[in-house]
Amino acid sequence: MSKTILILGGGWGGLTAAHALKGKLPSDYRIAVIEKRQSFVFYPSFLRAMVGETTGLNYIESPLKNILRKDLEIINEEIIRINPETKTVYTNAQSINADYIIVAMGAELYPETIPGFNEHCLNLYDTKGAFEIHQKLQNFKKGKIAFLVTRTPFRCPPAPYEAAMLAEWFLREKGVKNEIEISIYTPEKFPMPSAGEHVGEAFRQILNTHNIRFFPENTVTKIKENKIIFSNNKEASYDLLIGVPPHGAPKAIVESGLTNSSGYVPVHPQTMEILDNVEELTTHFPGIYAIGDSAGIMLLNGKYLPKGGVFAEEEAQVVARNIASLIKGEKPVASFNGQGVCYVDVGDGMAAEGAGDFYAYPDPVVKLAMPSKESRKAKHEFERIFEWWFSEYQNK
Ligand SMILES: Cc1cc2nc3c(=O)[nH]c(=O)nc-3n(C[C@H](O)[C@H](O)[C@H](O)COP(=O)(O)OP(=O)(O)OC[C@H]3O[C@@H](n4cnc5c(N)ncnc54)[C@H](O)[C@@H]3O)c2cc1C
Repeated sequence: MSKTILILGGGWGGLTAAHALKGKLPSDYRIAVIEKRQSFVFYPSFLRAMVGETTGLNYIESPLKNILRKDLEIINEEIIRINPETKTVYTNAQSINADYIIVAMGAELYPETIPGFNEHCLNLYDTKGAFEIHQKLQNFKKGKIAFLVTRTPFRCPPAPYEAAMLAEWFLREKGVKNEIEISIYTPEKFPMPSAGEHVGEAFRQILNTHNIRFFPENTVTKIKENKIIFSNNKEASYDLLIGVPPHGAPKAIVESGLTNSSGYVPVHPQTMEILDNVEELTTHFPGIYAIGDSAGIMLLNGKYLPKGGVFAEEEAQVVARNIASLIKGEKPVASFNGQGVCYVDVGDGMAAEGAGDFYAYPDPVVKLAMPSKESRKAKHEFERIFEWWFSEYQNK
């Protein structure tokens, strides 16, 4: 008998899972993606839009109907609630029962939780914000630019640092950098803490060579015109403020009782099954998985796996393989190994390759290579590979 597999969220992880499953199951199996947006948003392009490298909206936001395999079902509705016991998903228009559910709803942005964010801070993490930042940078001639990380965790831990270095490069190339001061304020102890202290130190040195001032362990409480106020009673002034808003699990996940004290959905680190006992790695909800930014995976050092598309993508492949095995009556053996590679923009046309094994004991092992022009090329290839990936499936 054919089964229904519901994929909640048509972002990086959800679309990977949908395409992977479609390739593994007969066509009479129902594989449906429920997504509230009309488009797939490729977040890494925000950084390039910010410095004017990509000016077309289409590069960042691709209409779902253009990139999805034609035989995939997309339900353009908002998920309101998930009942893991009955495997029922409630949207704003209907309820659907499933045999398997993959929660891939990412993280949601909550800028309104910091007073003054929406009024005074440009949002580095949305399309509109990325284009606005570019306009401001183009006309900025002197003064203070502050990059602000409001809360942790957030998607892609290197992104605000990359943004600061790209902005510095952009302004230097325009010949106006001498009269501009760039600073980063963050609650983190050092950049990218999940990658370990040595990577953080290497990053601090790169920031130093770009004359970017770094102010760790500052948690913003309020933003006023030209002033940021921190919980330690310190203040900082700015002329242009660019920020990463607070992140959290989407409301529908929280209201379905699927999150724990991490704020996200606890999952088995290898199979991505949703857990109801994190210590014993057990679940009462077989057949329900959470992948990507919605998931909270505790590492062996007690910290959490950073939120990155490369992880969402690999987790999606693992879950797709295991669901296909279960349906065929085979033992599910695919396992996520906590490894991933990313390319970190450092300005001057260069990027540094970061390769990590986040499941290493006692701490993740992350290596940051020397920045090079080749790595930036690889970063752009990686973005194009993503486009090819969809078209390759579409043509099958
Ligand atoms: C500036 C920036 C640069 C980045 N660079 C990189 C990089 O170089 N490499 C890398 O690996 N990662 C990078 N990332 C991180 C990466 O983009 C995310 O980790 C990845 O998108 C997570 O995938 P996901 O599927 O979990 O969530 P998402 O891609 O966010 O998808 C979630 C989807 O669920 C939908 N959804 C949510 N709630 C509902 C609801 N109630 N009803 C219906 N649909 C819903 C959303 O609309 C969304 O489409 C970057 C992120 C940013 C912001």
